[in-house]
Amino acid sequence: MVVGGISFAGSAVAFAKLQGLVTGTPITYAGQQVVNALLAIAIVALAVANLAIGSQAVFFIPLLLLALVLGVAFVIPIGGADMPVVISLLNAFTGLSVAASGFVLNNFALIVAGTLVGASGTLLTTLMSQAMGRSLANVLFGAFGQVQTAAGGTAVTAEGKSVRSGSPEDVGTMLAYARKVIIVPGYGLAVAQGQHAVKELADELEKRGVEVDYAIHPVAGRMPGHMNVLLAEANVPYEQLKEMDDINGEFQSADVAMVVGANDVVNPAARNTPGSPIYGMPILNVDQAKNIVFMKRSMRPGFAGIDNELLYDPKTIMLFGDAKDSLTKLVGAVKAA
Ligand code: NDP
Repeated sequence: MVVGGISFAGSAVAFAKLQGLVTGTPITYAGQQVVNALLAIAIVALAVANLAIGSQAVFFIPLLLLALVLGVAFVIPIGGADMPVVISLLNAFTGLSVAASGFVLNNFALIVAGTLVGASGTLLTTLMSQAMGRSLANVLFGAFGQVQTAAGGTAVTAEGKSVRSGSPEDVGTMLAYARKVIIVPGYGLAVAQGQHAVKELADELEKRGVEVDYAIHPVAGRMPGHMNVLLAEANVPYEQLKEMDDINGEFQSADVAMVVGANDVVNPAARNTPGSPIYGMPILNVDQAKNIVFMKRSMRPGFAGIDNELLYDPKTIMLFGDAKDSLTKLVGAVKAA
């Protein structure tokens, strides 16, 4: 009940953050970790008292309420790029509570299913925090993005810098005559439901002898494994989906890095700007490609709410518009090139 209560309330907060119903940035206050520790101690004490006295109904309501409060308190200080890790951890928690109910109800199916969800969720959580170059403890207790909260959560603007925008024909011609293109999918590709159009474009390029790969960042999109699921739906061959560590060395030799609805996962501020809410997060080395194409609708920032200097890079071309529309136009442009 305690683990289930924490994951239910925590997931509700994560949902509200991702839907923009509450601020997505970490909510912190002085002594937060002490309050959380006291809540956890109170829960353990009540649970032990309950077992010692022999399951009294009177203990259950306060235990459940405390677990719900701890679930909320546990997730509100987490934000930015750490959300995927905490979502995966909450998933693992639900597995544990299912397994525990299996023991209570003497139901093997619940025990086996819950243990599988718990174990795979724990593995995914560990792998994701490793991929982000952070320890799990740091993710859970480090209040990612706190700096941004201190700055009032406003997007940093880049006044005075110029942006180069191109037409689908310009970009189509560049892609058609490239030798190697790396596609970087992000949240915007999922919003636009452009996965089939991107596959069609990749097929068209491959017909012309262009080598095409997809660079998958561990936190691209809005849920763990989002890009893998999205592209699998469009039957993109699994071997073309390259993990960040495997593809990062290849950007230097790519003629074009085509960023489709991604932003934070390619933002060099993660490397160069100490104090940025994404500082320290490993990113895809899109800036090392010979040419960069950004497909998005405007100059608005991504989830972390910060400006991306790569949009103003002289080798970047912006292709403004909905990702699916632009991809469909690109297919036509590549055929015509
Ligand atoms: P971002 O949120 O950084 O950027 C997405 C971009 O897509 C935006 O800049 C937006 O620009 C563009 N976009 C939105 N809709 C469309 C559309 N219809 N067509 C074209 N472009 C569109 O995405 P990333 O994938 O780069 O990064 C993921 C972020 O989400 C990270 O900060 C990560 O920490 C966070 N996150 C990830 C989770 C996960 O489990 N993977 C969970 C929670 C958070 P514009 O508005 O100009 O079109």
